[in-house]
Amino acid sequence: MDWMEKELERLNDASLERLLRGSAATPQLPGYTLRGERLLLNLASNDYLGLAQHPAIIDQMRETLLAEGSGSGASRLVTGNRWPYIVLEERLSRWQGSEAALVFANGYMANSGVISALVGRNDVVFSDRFNHASIVDGIGLSRAEHARYRHNDMEHLEALLNKHQDKRRKLIVTDAVFSMDGDAASLVKLAELKRKYGTMLMVDEAHSGGIYGECGRGLCNELGIQHEVDIHMGTFSKSFGVYGAYVCGSRTLIRWLVNKARPLIYSTALPPSIVTGIAAALSLVEAEQWRRERLFSLSASFRSRLLHAGFKVGTGNSPIVPVIVGDNEAVLRFSKALERKGIEAVAIRPPTVPEGTARIRFSLTAAHSDKEVNNAAEIICATGHQLGLIRR
Ligand code: PMP
Repeated sequence: MDWMEKELERLNDASLERLLRGSAATPQLPGYTLRGERLLLNLASNDYLGLAQHPAIIDQMRETLLAEGSGSGASRLVTGNRWPYIVLEERLSRWQGSEAALVFANGYMANSGVISALVGRNDVVFSDRFNHASIVDGIGLSRAEHARYRHNDMEHLEALLNKHQDKRRKLIVTDAVFSMDGDAASLVKLAELKRKYGTMLMVDEAHSGGIYGECGRGLCNELGIQHEVDIHMGTFSKSFGVYGAYVCGSRTLIRWLVNKARPLIYSTALPPSIVTGIAAALSLVEAEQWRRERLFSLSASFRSRLLHAGFKVGTGNSPIVPVIVGDNEAVLRFSKALERKGIEAVAIRPPTVPEGTARIRFSLTAAHSDKEVNNAAEIICATGHQLGLIRR
């Protein structure tokens, strides 16, 4: 397999090789990680609400683990559909005000499974260029035509909608908050275009579910367009601090997915302990508004400090704060320098982001204090100066 070595060398030379690095959680210190002996302030996780170490979730998971065992033993359509699934799905549909809900093993499987179940060869999917890879892969699996529109460019989308009027089924799909840029989709306009062109609309709330809207119902809820969304998807691995994903929609949609979504049908059900852990997290997400308030106040002050220091931080106002560096090697240097100073900050490079836009993707969590975030911002700005990334 010489070709593999050569290709990997090429990636390494271009500062594009990806490495798996070990780290440990710090149960007593949410918001930190341990790398070897070093304690790092974790500014790279998606544990937005700081729930991943929450005792109520852990206790619930432990209790179910002892009662139900470690694995579910089969797919949901065989014998893996344990009672916690049924309870959770009822609660999810009540939370979202939808007719029905369906839990998937993770967001990747939900997106790839839902899209490939909804559209096929004679259909078209309109998808934002910055949508998550699991959406892109779902479109590929479906064999529908992939009509990719420029990021948040509604004129481009409308031109594509006009061009594809003759297609059998049409689906517009978007991240609500884009994972690597932290900006929001033009959801109100998307809902309008969906009505005008008679398409289906699917929204991925992976980075907005639990964070926006009343009781954390998501950005569509906050913007009042929830009833326009045919397929509402979100994850439990980020703001919920657990693992898994949900799809909410009509009874017919869920019935269709149970029959057609291959990752649901042909893969083992999540262990029951995970499912009850999600339910415990849902109670906290619904009740603890203070976590959202704290998260947004930390994110706003962090973003504004970096912006004033001269960094390019994108246009969003979510807890995801990208610092665009551009060059792949420079971004790695930046990330390593921050690690030496006690900050976990991960470099994101192509192909995850477009060529020439390598960046550090900072993400905040309600587990951090003002002091920790302010100190971190100071260190980041000083390091940016030292490395010649900012001039001010
Ligand atoms: N959608 C988006 C927008 C994501 O960012 C991610 C994960 N990073 C996923 C889906 C996949 O979710 P999961 O990690 O649960 O597979």
